[in-house]
Amino acid sequence: MLFSNIGLIDENFGYREGMYVGTVDDRIVYIGTEAPPVDPAQAREEELFKMTVSANPLLAGESSGCCAHTLLAGEPHPLYGEVYDGKGKVLMPAFYNAHGHSPMCLMRGYGENLPLDRWLNEKIFPFEDKLYSEAVYWSTLLTMAESMRFGIVSTSDMYYFTDDMVRAIAVSGMKSNISRAVTSFGCKRLEDCVGYREMREVILMYDGFADGRIIVEASPHAEYTNSEMFLRAIADTAKEFDVRIHVHVAETESETQGCIERYGRTPVKFLADCGVFDVPANAAHCVWLTDEDRDILAEKGVSVSSNTMSNMKLASGLCDVPKLYAKGINVAIGTDSVASNNSLNFFEEMKMFALAGKIRAMDPAAMTPEQVLFSATRGGALAQGREDVGFVKEGFKADLIVVDVTGPNMVPMHNMLNNLIYSADGKDVVLTMADGKVLYRDGRYMTLNYEKTVAEAQAATQKILSML
Ligand SMILES: [Zn+2]
Repeated sequence: MLFSNIGLIDENFGYREGMYVGTVDDRIVYIGTEAPPVDPAQAREEELFKMTVSANPLLAGESSGCCAHTLLAGEPHPLYGEVYDGKGKVLMPAFYNAHGHSPMCLMRGYGENLPLDRWLNEKIFPFEDKLYSEAVYWSTLLTMAESMRFGIVSTSDMYYFTDDMVRAIAVSGMKSNISRAVTSFGCKRLEDCVGYREMREVILMYDGFADGRIIVEASPHAEYTNSEMFLRAIADTAKEFDVRIHVHVAETESETQGCIERYGRTPVKFLADCGVFDVPANAAHCVWLTDEDRDILAEKGVSVSSNTMSNMKLASGLCDVPKLYAKGINVAIGTDSVASNNSLNFFEEMKMFALAGKIRAMDPAAMTPEQVLFSATRGGALAQGREDVGFVKEGFKADLIVVDVTGPNMVPMHNMLNNLIYSADGKDVVLTMADGKVLYRDGRYMTLNYEKTVAEAQAATQKILSML
């Protein structure tokens, strides 16, 4: 595809108007202020002319006279294919959702206005107890639809029924850092724990699946849901298979206090002592940290995924992101599940993330637009170990979104980055592309049957409710 005459958030997060960006297969191969030549022979002629100019500076400013750069409306470009009219649009890197539980979308709006323990014990756990394979498949597909609709291309997704999740993610064209979360309640031996066995199987079966779109991680659900023996065994598994770790850390004050009572150490210190941070890790939440915790996270190179909306909705607290930035820690943004969010509107999440950081620091200058956009895009990609995405840059994979900036919420435009973070809405996304493939465009889902997905997800919800 050739995005033509489009606004661009470039790799330095600068805004440039009237740009041309070309993708071939899964890569970004052209970024320029002019349309690339239509005819490859003309391109060669222009290249020769440029070489002549560099050899003879007196010719500088002359034209080769060969290349009109004219693209006929509606005609595909011979190299890039479809020419996309970028008028009134901005092309930017897609979002990486660094913490989620996709199948929980069936519990959207199901348990509201309850404290965390009652929310879990009275609503979430009984519902999850009745989940079944096809319910997880369709709920994951519905989450993929919602994600691509809001510009997310990849999610760090921790749950169970992993086979069914992988099936849905693979057909959707989306990316995932998936993990089978382990809770070791009541298990004395490793082999007695279904979750531990499945976590290892899932790594062997699916790491690198779907052309590398699926990355499998090891996952202790959290410190408070695992014994020390299991935490150490999961850390060893990650080292054995050379995979990353995804774990909930210090989400609530009571969880953090409980860990100090159990082990005389904070969750960060205790997990580090168990070896959990000896591989690249993604620590979700990190709301209740000490200065020493932040030093450990920085030293170990742990990424933190902050889940502002979920933390606010469950009144868990606010992650002190400015202090993490100050330590040089990579901070990414997560939605958590929609059971505690209640949507995957990533523009909303990004804005709330920025505002929460400012409130935590009591400083409106904290959380620059560049820092916030980095966390939503490149920071998330790095938290997932995806090195060649997260910027619109030649040679990078084409994980891109197009935002319509003609709505009243985007006018006037004093500063495009500020408008994107504080004024844009998820529904302004009009195109989502992962690995060069268009997944969502102007209300249409290219890789999934949206009506069937909604109907099946609703039917699964009713079936589970009837079993409660
Ligand atoms: Zn979570």
